[in-house]
Amino acid sequence: MGRDGRPDAAATKADVVIAGGGLAGLSLALALKDGLGADAAITVYDPGFGRPLTGDRRCSAIAAGARRLLTVLGVWDQVADDAQPMTTMIVTDSRTRDVARPVFLTFDGDVEPGEPFAYMVPNATLQRALTLASERAGIDMRAATVADFTADRAGVTVMGSDGATLRAGLLVACDGAKSRLRSLAGITTTSWGYNQSAITFTVEHERPHEGRAEEHFLPAGPFATLPLPGNRASIVWTERTPDAQRMVELPDYRFQEELEQRFGHALGWVKVETRPQVYPLGFAMARSFIGERFALVGDAAHLIHPIAGQGLNMGLRDVAALAEAMTDAARVGLDFASPQVLERYQRWRRFDTFAMGVATDTLNKLFSNQSDALRLVRDVGLGLVDRLPRLKGLFIRDAAGLTGAVPKLLRGEAL
Ligand SMILES: Cc1cc2nc3c(=O)[nH]c(=O)nc-3n(C[C@H](O)[C@H](O)[C@H](O)COP(=O)(O)OP(=O)(O)OC[C@H]3O[C@@H](n4cnc5c(N)ncnc54)[C@H](O)[C@@H]3O)c2cc1C
Repeated sequence: MGRDGRPDAAATKADVVIAGGGLAGLSLALALKDGLGADAAITVYDPGFGRPLTGDRRCSAIAAGARRLLTVLGVWDQVADDAQPMTTMIVTDSRTRDVARPVFLTFDGDVEPGEPFAYMVPNATLQRALTLASERAGIDMRAATVADFTADRAGVTVMGSDGATLRAGLLVACDGAKSRLRSLAGITTTSWGYNQSAITFTVEHERPHEGRAEEHFLPAGPFATLPLPGNRASIVWTERTPDAQRMVELPDYRFQEELEQRFGHALGWVKVETRPQVYPLGFAMARSFIGERFALVGDAAHLIHPIAGQGLNMGLRDVAALAEAMTDAARVGLDFASPQVLERYQRWRRFDTFAMGVATDTLNKLFSNQSDALRLVRDVGLGLVDRLPRLKGLFIRDAAGLTGAVPKLLRGEAL
């Protein structure tokens, strides 16, 4: 149909159009090929296709459930060489100048025998592997944006900035935290900024980390050291936004001093490997994850604080739930984007997303301050959790995406 409701002779047919070929968008495209079949017509729009993958130098903690999904989608083999298993996570609560850093909480162990609770993976490696797999799967990848769309009960008409018009069963917005399509669909968000920014880069250090991740809660926000292959680590260092900018503009020797003060000396010398990047942090939750012939996935649906390394993991859980709901309907000959199917997706994901959003927001507010009273409360709380192995086990499985109604892909099963 054209915008006036009359049949549009120029429209090309697609089953699903995905706006955004980031980590969530391409994972969804591959999951839909797995679920709807190799002949499903999946189109992904992203203006970044074809550009060198040098922009995002971050690394992500990929939880066990998300790692299983990437394995089923045939992508994990291509990232495994660059992935570092995370075997232990320790949490400390201290001030920048404190010499001793008491450890309040330690997570270790596998979610299943031989399966670590998370891996660290460079985003660029993952993006490259997803791009290659998508090309191999015959996904129609267009280096342009989705400019506009109109939806009706029978389908959605999508206009690309490349001048093309596509008629599809469903449009999925995976266009990130500032999602333009979410606004075009009239979906509002609950959102706020944290006046915090994350400084991220990788370092080399003298002694082996043995797979240990450390998160130091400091008054300005968490400072995380996340293990990478070799004697290397990814740093996610949170500061108040003006201080973060000031920090990365310091002369190298001053930046090094500030780094050493936070990194400590347990791993010997430390050397900055990649140029630091600054990411302003905020919270946003879409009031609805669905509309007519429309769904939100990934950061377009929810933006959370990286304090627990869960943003992308949440996006991949959206992917698993939406692909399974659509596949179940298609298998019995039903419309894969009917209101019932989209409602099922929304019910599956809303509570989990909301709970994680509140948990990360509360953790950040509880820890990122100078209050001695709050410090006592949180340290007693962390100490208690540390002494309750069953509760810790539950936290680990929850962070790994393996509690509640776990979608098939996160269980490691094909759709
Ligand atoms: C410092 C930091 C550390 C983090 N660490 C972790 C971690 O350890 N673990 C974890 O799980 N998460 C982590 N996250 C969160 C994670 O990075 C994000 O959740 C994830 O990258 C979001 O992916 P996405 O595909 O939803 O969105 P994006 O990566 O934002 O991708 C959106 C894509 O949409 C495209 N686009 C935009 N508009 C249009 C349009 N109109 N049409 C077509 N395409 C469009 C863009 O070009 C882009 O490629 C971290 C975040 C930060 C800031």
